Amino acid sequence: MIHPWQTALFARLASRRQVLPHAMLLHGRAGLGKTDFALTLAQGLLCETPQDSGEPCGQCAACRWFEAGNHPDFRWVSLQEEEPIEDDAASEGKSKKVPTQIGVDAIRALSGFMTTSTHRQGMRVVLIAPADALNANAANALLKTLEEPLPDTLMMLVSDEPGRLAATIRSRCQNVRFDLPAAAEAEAWLAHQDIAEAPLFLALAGGAPLEARRLATQDGGLRVALLRLLSSPEVSLTQLSEQAIRMPALQWIGWLQRWAHDLVEHKLVGHPRYHLDFSEALGHMAQRADLYDLLSWEQQLREARRLAHHPLNARLFAESLLAPILAMR
Ligand SMILES: [Zn+2]
Repeated sequence: MIHPWQTALFARLASRRQVLPHAMLLHGRAGLGKTDFALTLAQGLLCETPQDSGEPCGQCAACRWFEAGNHPDFRWVSLQEEEPIEDDAASEGKSKKVPTQIGVDAIRALSGFMTTSTHRQGMRVVLIAPADALNANAANALLKTLEEPLPDTLMMLVSDEPGRLAATIRSRCQNVRFDLPAAAEAEAWLAHQDIAEAPLFLALAGGAPLEARRLATQDGGLRVALLRLLSSPEVSLTQLSEQAIRMPALQWIGWLQRWAHDLVEHKLVGHPRYHLDFSEALGHMAQRADLYDLLSWEQQLREARRLAHHPLNARLFAESLLAPILAMR
């Protein structure tokens, strides 16, 4: 699917289908639809009767295979599912481990695919998304592939955080940057998706439309519940941390990071950037908060993101990050 803010970029790449580089890195912040874009470009390249725009026809045999997830000349390397734990009853009810990386086996598994001739006598396309999830061994294995490009083969890497990719990989890809759409265009698109309060969710998502839609439809009120508690003086640290850990760690840490940023912004320019619906509470807190304390809290939250996948004790972890709030209410 090509989103309205991507049409010019898509036209530019699709018009060069004969001379595309052998590797591209599509990067830009989360929630801009980069993977949707890459999938459409891949399908368009494999389609037997593409439209003039370069988009796939959706009708031919290649398109049907692609949409069913079994086109023989396409591979999507993504996060690996963990093996389910089999035997013990103790694991019942525990949520499945969330896969967080792409291992070397996933890259090695491409070698057979890359060296046999294509099934449809056309192109061969590999999508690696999210590419910043490649672990060190997988990145090394991929580097070898990038150093020996094959004819009629396109490697597409998609990344929200290209800084986490090895420089040697970045330098072997043509960089394609995705920018934020204009606010009016993004708000119109959200309104068309029946999202109420489009400006609020767009602000919360830092301007990224798909992230704004995800927040509007999937958050289920957890953000508002946490922030209400955050701004109530009588609520204890325990109550706060219990509310926070109902969300995935990266989610609630993200809300706190925006809250801290908003407090700094309120101190400096008098209005928040993200939590527009809590402007009054933020203003009250900003008056009581010390700027240097806020900056060190922001630093603490940034560092916490790295530990968020494996906190030893979720509640203690949350309490340590929420504690600085108490002095500001
Ligand atoms: Zn087609």
